[in-house]
Amino acid sequence: MPSNMMDMKMVQCDCGFMMQSHNENEIVKMTQMHVKDTHQQDMSAREVKGMMKPGMMMK
Ligand SMILES: [Zn+2]
Repeated sequence: MPSNMMDMKMVQCDCGFMMQSHNENEIVKMTQMHVKDTHQQDMSAREVKGMMKPGMMMK
């Protein structure tokens, strides 16, 4: 069974902002933008990936 396509990931920020996608790079970009805009912080892709958790399946 091909599971890659359904492999959702999510990141939740301390402030409650949450993003979810099956595209890790998209989550990384969105999280970096959010953290920069909202918290005036820079976050590396590695840090964002460290925050990633399995997302919820939506069927
Ligand atoms: Zn935040």
